[in-house]
Amino acid sequence: MNNHIALFPGSFDPITIGHIDIINRSIDLFDKIIIAVGVNAQKKNYFTLEMRLKWLHEIFQVHEKIEITNYEGLTVNFCKEKNAQFILRGLRNTIDFEYEKTIAALNRSVEDSIETIFVMTAPEYSHINSTIVRELIRYKGKFDHLVPACVMRDAMQQ
Ligand code: ADP
Repeated sequence: MNNHIALFPGSFDPITIGHIDIINRSIDLFDKIIIAVGVNAQKKNYFTLEMRLKWLHEIFQVHEKIEITNYEGLTVNFCKEKNAQFILRGLRNTIDFEYEKTIAALNRSVEDSIETIFVMTAPEYSHINSTIVRELIRYKGKFDHLVPACVMRDAMQQ
């Protein structure tokens, strides 16, 4: 039987405890999860790609079912390159739902062999998003309850 491989694409700018929760809760569903940092030339990120990858490696290095990488271009093309049959996405609220529904439909129209799987965010994490975390970091608000320890450590030194 085929290995069930899921790609978890995102900016992870920075990774939050909400992302980590989705990954931890999804890990038993798949043989492998590839956490893929999407690089978009049009999008300006707050943290460097190197820093975002470093954090992901630090958090998940002991996990043999998790691979960490980055990619450019269409997510479905990268799925094919990695033999991933699934795209994993987290859903926090109806705004996420509407947005994700469109992207999933588009991806399906391009490549119907790849299925998008949604995991609902745990209620205690549904208010967390990377944009707010970046604002808190930029303006020196409290953010240690929203991110893993490695992000806290490095972001404080910025
Ligand atoms: P993107 O720029 O692709 O939206 P993000 O890094 O913001 O990248 O998000 C990657 C994935 O993680 C998305 O599926 C998003 O819905 C999910 N996600 C983001 N924040 C949370 C959270 N607090 N709880 C659960 N899932 C989340």
